[in-house]
Amino acid sequence: MNTMKIIIQGAPGSGKGTQAKFIVKQYNIPQISTGDLLREAVKTGTELGLKAQKHMNTGTLVPDDIVIKLLNERIIQKDCQNGFILDGFPRNLVQAQELKNITDIDLVININVDYGLLIERITGRRTCKNCSSIFHIKYSPPKEVDRCDKCSGSLYQRDDDTEETVRNRLNTYENVTKPLIDYYKKQGILENLDSDGSIDEMHQKVSKLLVTRFKE
Ligand code: AMP
Repeated sequence: MNTMKIIIQGAPGSGKGTQAKFIVKQYNIPQISTGDLLREAVKTGTELGLKAQKHMNTGTLVPDDIVIKLLNERIIQKDCQNGFILDGFPRNLVQAQELKNITDIDLVININVDYGLLIERITGRRTCKNCSSIFHIKYSPPKEVDRCDKCSGSLYQRDDDTEETVRNRLNTYENVTKPLIDYYKKQGILENLDSDGSIDEMHQKVSKLLVTRFKE
């Protein structure tokens, strides 16, 4: 089988994590979310987690050496052999260049979304403590309040999903992460998708793209 090494990128709240989870299910490749890896490190209280926490709480990027270390440890695991979907990495050019030294990437999916929608999307987001499934109080509410439909775990609002932090995260995205669109465009591996409909409609677009790009 050909490898399927994918980056999914977009502004915070663009729905990249949700779409990444669909791809995981469909293609059986792992999702590597540096945000999830960092939150896990914060939760277990590792030294690295403590260093990362203050940056995450203010909506700025965690230093590259910390994130790159986490990524390196994850990507060498056996389940990543045939591919993976990177969600939230790389976030700047230094990380993109570092990734190039580690492995080649087959496809970068860039999700475009209207900025006006993002704040509402992010502040309404609820995440499962147990399985990381994502819900939205208005757009994809759980059947039972604050309970995960999939595993019955309790839902919470991420510390950095508050309005002030979200504004900082959007600024960081605009100034530091967005230039990656050009970087990958120049390499000929970028595909832009507009997120202007429902989660399902976006899923259709992503699926169609993957079928075309990864046919045997
Ligand atoms: P996310 O879950 O991808 O929205 O990430 C949440 C927070 O974790 C971000 O606001 C950053 O503080 C931090 N973070 C996640 N991925 C990275 C990365 N690749 N580089 C630096 N910081 C990151």
